[in-house]
Amino acid sequence: MKSEIPVLDRTVNGKRLVYLDNAASTLKAKSVIEKMADFYLYHYSNIHRAVHTLASEATMAYEQAREKVAQFLNAQPEEVIFTSGTTMGINLLVNSFVRSGLLKEGDVVLLTQVEHHANLVPWLRASKFHGFRIDYIQADEKGVISKEAIEKATSVKPKIVSITAQSNVTGQELPLDFVREAFPNAVLIIDGAQLVPHKKINVRALNIDFLVFSAHKMMGPTGVGVLYGKKELLERMEPFLYGGEMIDKVTFEDATFNILPYKFEAGTPHIAGVVGFGYTLDFLENLGFEKIEKQVEILSRYLVDSFSKLDFLELYGPLDDSHHSLVSFNVQGVHPHDVSHVLDQMFGIATRSGHHCAQPLMSVLKRGSKIDFPNSTVRASVYFYNTMDDIDTLVEGLKYVRKMFVG
Ligand code: PMP
Repeated sequence: MKSEIPVLDRTVNGKRLVYLDNAASTLKAKSVIEKMADFYLYHYSNIHRAVHTLASEATMAYEQAREKVAQFLNAQPEEVIFTSGTTMGINLLVNSFVRSGLLKEGDVVLLTQVEHHANLVPWLRASKFHGFRIDYIQADEKGVISKEAIEKATSVKPKIVSITAQSNVTGQELPLDFVREAFPNAVLIIDGAQLVPHKKINVRALNIDFLVFSAHKMMGPTGVGVLYGKKELLERMEPFLYGGEMIDKVTFEDATFNILPYKFEAGTPHIAGVVGFGYTLDFLENLGFEKIEKQVEILSRYLVDSFSKLDFLELYGPLDDSHHSLVSFNVQGVHPHDVSHVLDQMFGIATRSGHHCAQPLMSVLKRGSKIDFPNSTVRASVYFYNTMDDIDTLVEGLKYVRKMFVG
């Protein structure tokens, strides 16, 4: 695997690179990048519009990527819309709902307290202009969402439930089947940015209405994301962006729109990125999605077990079987930015420190914290190409940090 990911052969600050920032973005595979370069150099053109050979080759490659995504999710190709990422997918949904009259004054949108800003701010801002109400499934003081909290939230009778499949701060996987059962009539939107990279989501089996995720968190290119939507819902929705391939007919008075999925893909898309994401899915499929899930699971367990032995850490999140791929923590007495900085400088370890685009959740964690909580955490996150050796190096690094700052 290492030969497939050249950057893992790099040294950083004189040390072997230990990349543990996968929840922010994953590394790229050489074979995928080479295929993307080949596409750019020998097959690239704008898509859909022209009749020449290059355009039809590029269009075919783009639409093949859509078919691969559809297969990956157990969806129909016309239900797969390419976006620039998770953030764009949610903004598209929120804006389209209000324009289509699907979300009105008095309606309730239910989120959780662990959402990334991408699944929070678009709702907050739209609620200011359109008068719908936002409510939250409460997290406990470790940032954990319990089934009881989900059940309790049913009393608000939401029209839309928009929740993350896995928190990017606590690592908790939410029980999506339980959520679906608890809210049988709500429109269910799933932010799959963290879970989809290491656990396949079958949108039909889970009866999800919308799913959004980003290619770059699963070894794909940046600037590419997916919005899956149930056909019957997408058909009722007003587009978010206008112009280009999404148009059917235009007069000086008005316009009509193309069929699905093109109706939601305005302007020239990230053609090579989408094609590259198709190659990425081939690459992951060749490795085996089940193997990827298992390997991430083994590494996550090892990460939690290793951290549990360090008594100077404060850990957040559930840390049980509902927990995957990342751990947020603080080294008592050391600011998270200092922790991350020293790990990088002295050990070549990439981790993330900060609020992880989940500022409201930081106030929840602060309530449960036994330390002088710095409103931020360090986060270590694995993908299948990490090794136990990487985690051992991190443990050594953390011992060093603690000694350096606290003694
Ligand atoms: N939701 C979650 C849970 C995330 O972890 C992220 C990325 N940190 C996003 C949404 C936003 O993804 P993107 O920046 O690719 O749009």
